Amino acid sequence: MKLNDTHLGTDGAIRLGRRHLFQNYRPLPVAFDRGQGVRLRDPEGNEYLDFIGGIAVSTLGHAHPDLVEAIRRQAGRCLHVSNLFHIPEQAEAGRLLTETAGLDRAFFCNSGAEAVEAAVKLARRWGRERVCTDSPEIVVTEGAFHGRTLGALAATANPEYRDPFEPLPGGFRRVPYDDLPAARQAMGPDTCAILVEPIQGERGICVPSDDYLAGLEQMAGEHGALLVLDEVQTGIGRTGADFAFQRHGIEPDAVTAAKGLGGGVPVGALLAREEAAAMIGPGHHASTFGGNPLAMAAVGVVLRTLSRSRLSERAGAMGERLRSGLERLAAGGAPIRNVRGAGLLVGLDVGPPAGAVVRACLDHGLLVNAIGEDTIRLAPPLVVAVAEVDRGVALLGEALADLGRGGTPELEADATRAESHGVDSHVTPKRDDR
Ligand SMILES: *Cc1c(COP(=O)(O)O)cnc(C)c1O
Repeated sequence: MKLNDTHLGTDGAIRLGRRHLFQNYRPLPVAFDRGQGVRLRDPEGNEYLDFIGGIAVSTLGHAHPDLVEAIRRQAGRCLHVSNLFHIPEQAEAGRLLTETAGLDRAFFCNSGAEAVEAAVKLARRWGRERVCTDSPEIVVTEGAFHGRTLGALAATANPEYRDPFEPLPGGFRRVPYDDLPAARQAMGPDTCAILVEPIQGERGICVPSDDYLAGLEQMAGEHGALLVLDEVQTGIGRTGADFAFQRHGIEPDAVTAAKGLGGGVPVGALLAREEAAAMIGPGHHASTFGGNPLAMAAVGVVLRTLSRSRLSERAGAMGERLRSGLERLAAGGAPIRNVRGAGLLVGLDVGPPAGAVVRACLDHGLLVNAIGEDTIRLAPPLVVAVAEVDRGVALLGEALADLGRGGTPELEADATRAESHGVDSHVTPKRDDR
């Protein structure tokens, strides 16, 4: 046995995780230990079509040869040196990322929440230095999700995420999403920034009116406030453009990125125009791991592949095919009430509970994700092929048809899985793993 080979099957992973990990997630009773492109395999060898891509993360699919090679090569040189020194890979990734976004400077961190934290700090500095207020205020929106650290949580709307952790940092004013008059009313002498998602991902893929972002841009400009876009989910080609804001012809002052940026390697970034980036000087902000050579090597491959293989354009075309496939299912009587999104970030409202749909899809070998009671999110890798899009639609159709045939397929699915994998579930008595 190789030193790094755990040989844990699905059962073993579930049992060990239940015993030793914080129980803050509710994972489905499957585990994956390898993948290829848009396919994932469990330790027992069953294959699944991955239409969630690690939550909009796996831009290039699994085990992309260029990404594998770059990571391998970088690991053989150095993984980490710290920002005490110049990091060539970081400078190069900064060049690629700023060119992709059309912004001037980049700060690298390790996650989406951290990118938002950096944006909040930048906005507050802007408030103090340029708006000349001692109590800078950031306008945020209802339904927003910006991450789980305290600052990002303060910008986030969901009370279930917020309430257990009060008191949260102040300095945020919340307005309804996609409501320009409400935003205008909230702007005041202390407003240093508007922080908003171009499409609200975690809320259920909520696409605002076409003029919303341009309206916010104008409003921020009139007030001398920054327009900060959280593109952690919508960035890196996901919506059919390199960044979602580019589909609106606007110029935000700062933009966050993370999820898809490293193709699976944890990394985040804050991008900003020169004037805004100047608010963060030596000592104002830092991250030990931020911009480390390993993550930067991954970012380099992702951004070069994004441009060379025109993945954004491809996401636009594949997304259209995916949405029209879903609409065809709905027209054929499938319990789909609404299909929305942009590129390969798609939300659909379904008749049965979303959790049951996820389980039924799993039984058909399709990985999707429930966001909310009756909403399914699809975010496959941007390299998904036409045949895979069609296959995904067909599998979802079969899963919905199964649910439509009545019974309690969710529980049946659980029972089957519990039998074959020996894991407990809703219908088998809970075993004591200790
Ligand atoms: C996922 C997400 C975050 C948080 O990212 P983490 O990497 O989980 O911290 C922030 N903003 C948006 C829009 C997101 O979708």
